Amino acid sequence: MLDEEALVEALNSTPIVEARPVDRWDDDEALKVWVRAHGGRGDDAELGPLRGARSALQAVVSGESDPGVLAEFLSGVRQVPEVDAAGVTWRLETPPERRVAVELVLAWGAVVQQLPGRLRACANPDCRLFLLDRSRANSARWCSMRTCGNRLKVRRHHQRHRDVPSPSE
Ligand SMILES: [Zn+2]
Repeated sequence: MLDEEALVEALNSTPIVEARPVDRWDDDEALKVWVRAHGGRGDDAELGPLRGARSALQAVVSGESDPGVLAEFLSGVRQVPEVDAAGVTWRLETPPERRVAVELVLAWGAVVQQLPGRLRACANPDCRLFLLDRSRANSARWCSMRTCGNRLKVRRHHQRHRDVPSPSE
């Protein structure tokens, strides 16, 4: 199963680098490496559903789309109970080429249930990253205080100083 770390990694695979949008999943081979590292086979057929699920999840988490758009990625998916000495476990039944995409959507489902309101887009409008806020206060607004948080502070600082009329005026 994909965990929340993998989910955030997927959401954050389209950052802005030096003022340009970059898609780290654009390259098939690079994405196959990610797929294999997360339990997939790394076949060509897996890439389309995975990219689609990522885009839909980005739109949902940033509030552009209704969560209902994720339903198509889960169509035909079933959980089947299996019993043995260890108890009952649920086995996911899904076409193999869609498994990683399905697990990505399920990882989102687990996060919004277990950590409601804590997965969100960075508050910097020029940033395309997402964050999962685990702080007690749930007050984190930036993907990183060091980059986006600081940038806004600097901008506000300049703004304040511009608003103050200079003595010569
Ligand atoms: Zn940011």
